[in-house]
Parts: sequence; structure tokens; C-alpha cells
Amino acid sequence: MSEERLISGARRDGDEELVKLRPQRLEDFTGQKIVCENLKIFITAALARGEALDHVLLSGPPGLGKTTLAQIVAHELDVDFRSIAAPTITKIGDLAAILTTVQPNSVLFIDEIHRLLPTIEETLYSAMEDFQLDVLVGSGPAATTVRVPLQPFTLIGATTRSGLLSQPLRDRFGIPLRLDFYDPAELKKIVVRGAGILNIGITDDGAIEIAKRSRGTPRVAGRLLKRVRDFAVFEGRKEIDAALADRALQRLDVDKQGLDMMDRRYLTCIAQKYAGGPVGADTLAAALSEERDTIEEVIEPYLLQQGYIQRTPRGRMLSAMGFKHLGLSAPTSSQNDLFSAQD
Ligand code: ADP
Repeated sequence: MSEERLISGARRDGDEELVKLRPQRLEDFTGQKIVCENLKIFITAALARGEALDHVLLSGPPGLGKTTLAQIVAHELDVDFRSIAAPTITKIGDLAAILTTVQPNSVLFIDEIHRLLPTIEETLYSAMEDFQLDVLVGSGPAATTVRVPLQPFTLIGATTRSGLLSQPLRDRFGIPLRLDFYDPAELKKIVVRGAGILNIGITDDGAIEIAKRSRGTPRVAGRLLKRVRDFAVFEGRKEIDAALADRALQRLDVDKQGLDMMDRRYLTCIAQKYAGGPVGADTLAAALSEERDTIEEVIEPYLLQQGYIQRTPRGRMLSAMGFKHLGLSAPTSSQNDLFSAQD
């Protein structure tokens, strides 16, 4: 179900056109100011020393620009860029084939790095630390370890779940950077730039309307812009204004706050099935017929950041704002409060 979501930050089929929207240089990258400033300093220093940039860990919810930034880093360093998703590395041989062919000082991007198999992860340690690969050759008593020297390289790891990363792996990244949701002004800039690339006019108000409803996520902003553009083309309009954007987004079931059907299903489930919570992630996943990962990586981060839900040690709870969004009134006090009031 979430695969079909227009406002999911995760990648989907049909996103190819969004590639055109990818900024190529740090100066074109909107938002994430501190992350960009830090990267600029480290890139400049690495270039001045003529060495590989230290390994970088980019963490944050899907669609915030981790892949884009990794490509920009390679671009700024003027080096080769190779990209691979952690789950596709199933054998040490796969990793060895990649590492032994990296160009000096180039960037190797591993997406979803928290999904690396433990054996692969351990092999990566010496590659990251000493630029050498220890490969076991043969089996049984005759097995020996062969040390293969590697070219110096920069590993850029991306993860939506930095909490799942093992400490030894985390420790090997000299530059850990966290990406946060974008504010509406930043997203507006991204929408205006995107409209230019997609060759459609847009008013200020039109861009703000799309920005406000993009769940703080550039990938969502790009997708919504494309859909709203379809409405504009259908209606024979050359320019997207606020009224057109609003009409189109309502039709697409994205509400004024940028929440979609899935968000509302999630909030309604906590409100009505679990009396506002607390409720655990597994229970919610089962009730909604969703993967727990989807709930935790895609749906919850934005709802948490916006304050629709709270995370407590006993599970998720709907906030007063969450109840309000659903048009329900929040319970004024919990059972516990009632009991303590009677004491
Ligand atoms: P992630 O790797 O974090 O899932 P991506 O780097 O693939 O996210 O970015 C998703 C889309 O959002 C890309 O198509 C890119 O065009 C756009 N995007 C991301 N960050 C920015 C930004 N700061 N400015 C403009 N567009 C961006």
C-alpha cells in the first residue's frame, strides 16, 4: 500500500524524471545548511592535501537528499562515483570486486548501509581503516588470509536507521552527518527550481502551496510538482497558482498539512483502535497490514517531527494535535491521572 503513496519519501517507479531535478553542485543544493558547510570545509581540505576525503555517514529519512549529496561530493572532488545498495552485496567476493577496482580517492556510495550482512561489514572495517582487504583463500586447515592492498577511497554510507548501525562501523566514519526535514521556505525554493527544469510556470503562492504539503521532503516536493503540472497541462494552463495546486493536491488526497491517506489511517488507528495509545510498532504494523520498517522509516519520522504523535517507552501515543487533525477531541486526562486525582 505504501508503495503507492504519492507522498512517501521512499523511491518508487516513475521517479526517473526526478533525476533531472538533482542538483549537481553544493551551491545548487538548498537547505541542510550546516551539513553543506561542513562538507565544503572537509572537501576543500581533502583537495588541498590531495588525499581521499574521510568516510562520510549520511543519515536521515528517505528522500532528503543523501544520494544527491553523495554525488555532489564526488562532483566537487572531481572523482569517480560508484553506487551500490547494501542488500545487493551478498558475498565477500561481491565486495572485493568493487573495492579492488575503485579509482584512487574516488567515492563509493553504499545505500541502506544498516542492511549490510555482518560478514561483509567486518570485511569492510580494514578496507575503511587501512585501505586493505583481508580475503580468506581456501578452506579448512589449509585456509590462509591474503591481504590485498586497495586504492585510498571515500566510503559514503547512507542510512534511514542510524540506530541500527553497529558501533564499530559507526566509529569508522570520520564525518557523520544527519539530514533533517526541510522547512517550507527551502522546499519552496526547490519547487521553483524544479518548475524551471520541468518547464512549467509557477507563481510564488503556487510554489508555497506545494512546499507546505510536501512532508518536509524534496523527493515528495518533486513528485507533487510533477502531478500538479499534469493538472496544469490538462487544464491548458501555463502557470501553476495556489488555487490549481490546492485543487490538484486535494484530488490526490494530500491534505492541507501534507498528510495523505496512509498518514490518516495510521493516526486514526491509534485514536480509535487503541484509544490514543500507547501502542507498540509491531501491533500497529499488524493492524495496518504494513511492514514495521515502513512504519518506522517512512510514516513515523515526519509525524513525530511535526508533533502528531509522541514516542514513549510503552509505545506511540497520539498528541492533542493528532486528535485535532482527525477532528476528534483528545481525552482530557488518562486513567492514571483520574486515579491519582482520587488519591
Ligand atoms: P535520499 O537518498 O535521501 O533518499 P535523494 O538524494 O535520492 O534522497 O533525493 C530525492 C530527490 O529529491 C532527488 O531526485 C533530488 O532531485 C531531490 N532533492 C533532494 N535534496 C534536494 C535539495 N536539497 N535540493 C533540490 N532537490 C533535492
